[in-house]
Amino acid sequence: MTHPEPTPEPGRPVVLRGGTVLPMDDACSILGNTDVLVVDDRIAAVGPALEVPEGTQEIDARGGIVMPGMIDTHRHMWQTAMRGYGADWTLTQYFVWYYLEHGRTFRPEDVAAGNRLAALEALEAGVTTTVDWSHGLQSVDHAEAAVQALRSVPGRFVLAYGNIQAAPWEWTADPAVRDFLTRHRDAADDMLGLQLAFDVTGDPVFPEKAAFEAARELGLPVTTHAGVWGATNDDGIRLMHEHGFMTPETVYVHAATLTPDSYHRIAATGGSISVSTESEQSAGQGYPPTWQVRRHGIPVSLSMDTSVWWSGDLFSAMRTTLGADRSREHFEAHLSGETVTHVALRAKDVVQWATRGGALALGRDDLGSLEPGKKADVVLLRNDDSPVSFPVLHPFGHVAFQAQRGDVHTVLVDGRVVKHAHKLVGVDLGAVRREIESSVEHLLSTLGEEVWAQGMNPDLPDAQLLDNPYQYTEYKSDSTRAAREEVFEEHLATER
Ligand SMILES: [Zn+2]
Repeated sequence: MTHPEPTPEPGRPVVLRGGTVLPMDDACSILGNTDVLVVDDRIAAVGPALEVPEGTQEIDARGGIVMPGMIDTHRHMWQTAMRGYGADWTLTQYFVWYYLEHGRTFRPEDVAAGNRLAALEALEAGVTTTVDWSHGLQSVDHAEAAVQALRSVPGRFVLAYGNIQAAPWEWTADPAVRDFLTRHRDAADDMLGLQLAFDVTGDPVFPEKAAFEAARELGLPVTTHAGVWGATNDDGIRLMHEHGFMTPETVYVHAATLTPDSYHRIAATGGSISVSTESEQSAGQGYPPTWQVRRHGIPVSLSMDTSVWWSGDLFSAMRTTLGADRSREHFEAHLSGETVTHVALRAKDVVQWATRGGALALGRDDLGSLEPGKKADVVLLRNDDSPVSFPVLHPFGHVAFQAQRGDVHTVLVDGRVVKHAHKLVGVDLGAVRREIESSVEHLLSTLGEEVWAQGMNPDLPDAQLLDNPYQYTEYKSDSTRAAREEVFEEHLATER
């Protein structure tokens, strides 16, 4: 039987007792029956049967896995009020809907509502740091709303400032935007960082140069959608490189349709790639690139892109990234008549990408691992009611292929318990729901029912049913089911 544990109080030390700990240290250790002690905002100790300060709150981690909080390096949080709306979209439909047709419809309060829900969704799934790739900031009011929402949720975030309604060389030159960026750069802390987010089209004139110069002047890292089929390509990377704008803190999102030349430039300048496997698979930015990126030694982090398709949950990112990488490896081998007998990408690699990979991308040495002195962002996976929670034989495999958000028992951010016993702590989800409902209502009424329904249900492409040589009746491939039945009826009639 289980005893309900009291929710730990802020300010008191916390110890997670007796779990299988994946500290994500250099050795990728697996520590059985180990405690993790958190004092203030830091990991104080990791080890067996730890002595703890008086008054420490105990969390039973037996049977569970303790790991660092996960880090999502690219998510358009402002789009979360449209959860699942684009389930059947391609990237083209996404561009048309947000960039050309309806992105302007979002008010500051819609950005805030989306951000708040996205932030809670991340925390609930054990994602303790999220980069808000916020390219819906068509005014500084939108940006203030985005920041206010992020600050209202006790997770770590990075606001990556962007605006798809204007060119990057335009909005980065806007004095109001400069003022916002300067203020929030100076106010940036542990919990909320700042980046600039824009894409490079490959125009030989390189108009984005001014935006890179603005980032340099402000001392802000740049994150950019690179190697996206039909949108960004090698030319953009080359221009960035030739002008000296590729730096170790640059994050290249997707990087899926690039040639080895671009990967060499990224590797040589020390940047990292944010892989959004689920996005690349459905939307069509290119084949999820880890199978080639890892051959270039480029650091990888994982990301979820947008909840307009899928939820902000890195368990599914880890699972699908392993699958896509291995799928490609087998496929390439089969094309040359070979068999892969040993896969190159391991479960521990994707767990590492989801934790330390994100920390590296953000230049945060203090995140991504459970080692004394690091920031206390901790996740406990424990679900006593789940038949999938045991046995835990291969802990990295368990995280990557077995666990899911419902197994996240406890989450600490900066030493504070934000989820406990499978519930977010101190969150009025009802208020968040009402905020989202009013946002949906605004969007729906602005678009009108018909446009709304059309947007959600894109036309199907023409499909052709292939001829089947084993069919005993004769009919053509464009037969509909009705036509098939007619043929069958005729067949029966001639039999009679
Ligand atoms: Zn994106």
